[in-house]
Amino acid sequence: MPMFVDTSPPGECIFCRLVAGQIPSAKVYEDELTIAFMDIGQVNPGHVLVAAKRHAVTLLDLTPEEAGAVMRTAQRVAAAVQKAFDPDGISLFQANGAAGGQTVFHFHLHVLPRHENDGVSLGWPRKEPGPEALAGYAQRLREVLQ
Ligand code: 5GP
Ligand code: ZN
Repeated sequence: MPMFVDTSPPGECIFCRLVAGQIPSAKVYEDELTIAFMDIGQVNPGHVLVAAKRHAVTLLDLTPEEAGAVMRTAQRVAAAVQKAFDPDGISLFQANGAAGGQTVFHFHLHVLPRHENDGVSLGWPRKEPGPEALAGYAQRLREVLQ
């Protein structure tokens, strides 16, 4: 089951329109499967989005080739961000589904330059349920892993 069903009419996805050049973007890089462009919001200067060119909603909708291509592009872009903006760190962020923080339902990965005390935060409430629970969770995953 997909975690998010894309109900936007064909041709109205904002990133599909951006890929097609129908709306402007500050493009950094593109290849056969991926495109990288500046995020309009710029959480920090140098904030880039790496998107699949094909309309795929979440990580689970990508082909393995697209998933690999996205990470290759992200690594190249991150190296460029490091050279051009010299951040203290770089975070990769990728949201799937509204509950996962996704607001544009066309797959993309954030390459986000980071600085000490830059105000970026993600709640991370650790539960530490212990080794038996971990073993049970791993078992559930091994049973369905493809
Ligand atoms: P999400 O919340 O889905 O992980 O990220 C969506 C991102 O897309 C946001 O950071 C937002 O600033 C960016 N964004 C939304 N619309 C546009 C647009 O038209 N152009 C560009 N360059 N970025 C956009
Ligand atoms: Zn799209």
